[in-house]
Amino acid sequence: MNTLENFHNFLEIREEDYCIVYATGNIFPVENIISVEKKYGEVIKDFLNFDFIDKIANAINPIPAKSKYINDYIDECYQKLKNNNDEIVLIFFLEEYRCILLDIFDDPNEDIVSNVKFYLYSLIMIQENLLSFIRTGEISNGLLTMLKSITNIQVRIDFSKTTSYNFLYETRDIYSLLAIDIKMIKDKSIIIKKCANCGKYFIPSNRSDEIYCDNVFRSGKTCKQVGYEEKEKKDPFKSLYTKARKTQHARIHRNIENKPNYKEAHYIPWRTAAEKARDYYKSINDLDGFQKWIEDNKDSF
Ligand SMILES: [Zn+2]
Repeated sequence: MNTLENFHNFLEIREEDYCIVYATGNIFPVENIISVEKKYGEVIKDFLNFDFIDKIANAINPIPAKSKYINDYIDECYQKLKNNNDEIVLIFFLEEYRCILLDIFDDPNEDIVSNVKFYLYSLIMIQENLLSFIRTGEISNGLLTMLKSITNIQVRIDFSKTTSYNFLYETRDIYSLLAIDIKMIKDKSIIIKKCANCGKYFIPSNRSDEIYCDNVFRSGKTCKQVGYEEKEKKDPFKSLYTKARKTQHARIHRNIENKPNYKEAHYIPWRTAAEKARDYYKSINDLDGFQKWIEDNKDSF
């Protein structure tokens, strides 16, 4: 038993998320049975973040010339790609890729490169169709064809629980996972957005008008932190205000023993006044005036 062929990947749809279970053959030690939880929408989000045109296409080159090298080759691809890509989508992608290669090697008339290109091209097409779906909520004809023809989902009932018997969805292909996720997104009105900083797709955690994701972008800071800092740099009034606010905020801790209500009595009134002053001086475009206000009012509250 040394290939994924012998295993099933299955999916349990739960109240808040999915549990995706997969077993790996030659990619990892055979015994590895891995279960991953994903929120609704995350399969689509993770799939959209795959760069098939550039990074994936580069990583899978060169394709081996003989079928006996395929398993090692797929393992190499996995090692190259696992750090920057979602594991579930990667495993499904590589498993199908491996099957395609094996089929091609069986037939001497097949051209490997054009078949691989076609595989990548169809994934890119699905991404485009999914993008239009997340923007408009409409399922395009291209996507409809895909959902009708290439998805393959088997359902069985999980009798292992004593209280309730759930449906378990078994599938080997990414298209079926995407199809299930499309249904969930539609049912639960889940929003997927493109981060205004790093360009990756994300699901806003609470605010639907959020434009930045929570991934770490650089020096331990998330896109959200970096994004708002950059925005602030472009707005000198906001930047002055934030600097002064941090100074004032630090006083809360300094006064925690002798003035335990410092926050309510001093900091919050200062903040309210400073926000008003910031908006006022910004409206008349007087940065020096705002600077002076901060200086004059640093101990006023
Ligand atoms: Zn981001």
